[in-house]
Amino acid sequence: MKILVINAGSSSLKYQLMDPESGDVFAKGLCERIGIDGRLTHKAPAKDVKVVREIPMPTHAEAISAVLEILVDPVNGVVASVDEIDAVGHRVVHGGMKFAESCLIDEACLEAVRACIPLGPLHNPANLLGIEACQKIMPKTPQVAVFDTAYHMTMPPKAYRYAIPDEYYEKDSLRRYGFHGTSHRYIAKRVEALMGKGLKVINCHLGNGSSLAAILDGKCQDTSMGLSPLCGVPMGTRVGDIDTTVAQYICKNYNKSMDEVMNILNKKSGVFGLSGGVSSDFRDLEAAAAAGNEKAQLALDKFAYEVKKYIGAYAAALGGLDVLVFTAGVGENGVLMRSMICEGLEFLGVKLDQEKNKLRGDERIISADDSKVKIWVIPTNEELMIAQDTAELAK
Ligand code: AMP
Repeated sequence: MKILVINAGSSSLKYQLMDPESGDVFAKGLCERIGIDGRLTHKAPAKDVKVVREIPMPTHAEAISAVLEILVDPVNGVVASVDEIDAVGHRVVHGGMKFAESCLIDEACLEAVRACIPLGPLHNPANLLGIEACQKIMPKTPQVAVFDTAYHMTMPPKAYRYAIPDEYYEKDSLRRYGFHGTSHRYIAKRVEALMGKGLKVINCHLGNGSSLAAILDGKCQDTSMGLSPLCGVPMGTRVGDIDTTVAQYICKNYNKSMDEVMNILNKKSGVFGLSGGVSSDFRDLEAAAAAGNEKAQLALDKFAYEVKKYIGAYAAALGGLDVLVFTAGVGENGVLMRSMICEGLEFLGVKLDQEKNKLRGDERIISADDSKVKIWVIPTNEELMIAQDTAELAK
């Protein structure tokens, strides 16, 4: 089967055409500057193709058209006709309480995704644009929605409820949802394949956005992001957990609207804000800290400290720990950050092997032989999960 995986943002759209069984990627790419002018970057690894084209993309529909055109292009494409694409899988960020699993897109599913817009105002509208554009251009091809929040729906109420007046949950569904669910689910499955069932696992998805998940026997018990992807550990530019009084203070004392404060907490905070604006990229922060920049060092220290605190909390929530996993950009590549996080966790049975830890991007154990807790680096593959769900539902 050939599945097209689409991840639509407000002005960008990522795609991969892949085999859901082998995981082989036939082609992948990115449409950028949708609604502004439009640029397509396309790669077909087996053909050693990489092309960048300026193509007008006033809406997502032109972006999808450009993707389909290049996929069937005799020189740069990988299929003879669009009919070879068996189904399309869409990443949808917020599935609210409606979706504990992926779903074949029909009018009822679309209606439910639209109903989640108040919960995911930054992402769901863009995801819907991607779906609607594909439906228009490929009306006969099955489309599937795969939700970032779905994997976390196994959390118990004590983990997902906020201690706010009950009516906001009953009427408005305000609760912890969690994100990166497709990545956490991929890791839970990989751990099961590598280590067996019934394990207590903490997965650290550490990238530009970061979240941790406490997993028992493959199922999510708790996760660090909440109603939105703003909370949990500090991130590239997102603040992470914070006393909400800080928002009120900035509002009042800097004469800002709530929207402006939310923008600061989403786009100007995290390790970027803490480092005094050095960078949201961990490589830049490490370089700056090594050159003596104390604020960059503080940003790294704070990030490692907060991740460590979550590991402690989740080990307590799970009543022990068997496997600790690092994934995503920083988790897979950040040798220094993994070492900083694991330092001092020996009391939990977490013992890193500094030599084995010198690895980037491979799937491997990095704990010492006598470590009670096995520490793994596992590269995540959200696209494969989306392709597999899509293939399954399209059948
Ligand atoms: P992601 O959002 O998963 O793509 O992760 C992006 C983050 O991964 C960026 O902050 C990068 O700085 C970080 N990253 C990528 N490579 C490395 C590396 N070699 N060392 C530390 N951080 C890295």
